[in-house]
Amino acid sequence: MTELWSQMVKRTVPYIPGEQLEQEGLIKLNTNENPYPPSPTVFQAIQEEMKRNLERYPSPSADELRGAIAERFGLSAKNVFVGNGSDEVLAFSFMAFFEPGNPVLFPDITYSFYPVYAKLFNIPYEQIRLNDDFTLPVERFFQSEGGVILPNPNAPTGLYEELDQIKRIVQENKGRVVIIDEAYIDFAPTSAVGLVHTYNNLLIVQTMSKSRSLAGLRVGYAIGDETLIEGLTRIKDSFNSYPVDRLALAGAKASFEDNEHFSNTTAAILSTRERVIKQLRTLNFSVLPSATNFILVKHDHLNGCSLYEELKARGILVRHFNTTRISNYIRVTIGTEEQMDIFLNELTAILASASPVHP
Ligand SMILES: *Cc1c(COP(=O)(O)O)cnc(C)c1O
Repeated sequence: MTELWSQMVKRTVPYIPGEQLEQEGLIKLNTNENPYPPSPTVFQAIQEEMKRNLERYPSPSADELRGAIAERFGLSAKNVFVGNGSDEVLAFSFMAFFEPGNPVLFPDITYSFYPVYAKLFNIPYEQIRLNDDFTLPVERFFQSEGGVILPNPNAPTGLYEELDQIKRIVQENKGRVVIIDEAYIDFAPTSAVGLVHTYNNLLIVQTMSKSRSLAGLRVGYAIGDETLIEGLTRIKDSFNSYPVDRLALAGAKASFEDNEHFSNTTAAILSTRERVIKQLRTLNFSVLPSATNFILVKHDHLNGCSLYEELKARGILVRHFNTTRISNYIRVTIGTEEQMDIFLNELTAILASASPVHP
């Protein structure tokens, strides 16, 4: 029945998310979720909200949550947009700031949702080849015709680019929007949020799914100049007046009000990450420097696909990308200390049973 489809449906190539298996006992290290639960105050806030007005629509402008986010960053609520996960915020941003006819630039190895949105909205794009060590060829993002989008830290490489470099990209794209997807910034040195006062063409997108342990709640947000936020709001109000539901608004706000829980869980992940990287190196894995809650690793004796398969057979799910430049790697989310011990033990066993590659 595909002849009944619109051109939009015909041209789209949907994003494929990591597997969400509900299998008992499975160690899930494949979609960069947080291994720790959210703050207990989030549960309280959601429970309180359930007793209240679920028969009423939520606030279309999400003022309270926007206010809580603005406060954390020392901004005004007018600088904040909230959506149903940052994926929705990113989709709205493509619609609001990128145009058919003007190619948008993003890296060749990056979040694989960007080409999906571009095709869906008919926006041409050019994929800029990352350097051989996967760092950003910064100058190649200057003077874009249609704008720039890139994650910092990048996914799935985990590499962080210094703020000065991000600033140069923003400066060298006056009159076009530069979107910095900071999904993993809480595991990295410095956010570019402080630059939005200076540059009206910079939009920062962040999510509550990773560092704030709320992937199941679906809340993401954008921070930028008032005019950019107004543009996003115009798209939202032409699409769905209430993309963030009452429970999500209440839970997300509570999360922003408990920074202690957030700092503790983030610190735990960082410490586990550094420990796991050291141990993987003693097992002769190459590990890319990570400023995120995941690592991209490879081993000379086992290709990425076999590693993924062997681990899956042993109840550990990691992510393998079948893209040329990183097909030999696996991406591993940092779990709890216990989960990572099991991961390291199973890897050791896999390596012991693998037949070495002969030159
Ligand atoms: C996880 C992720 C997102 C999506 O986050 P949600 O808020 O859960 O939709 C966006 N960008 C990058 C780079 C991510 O890794």
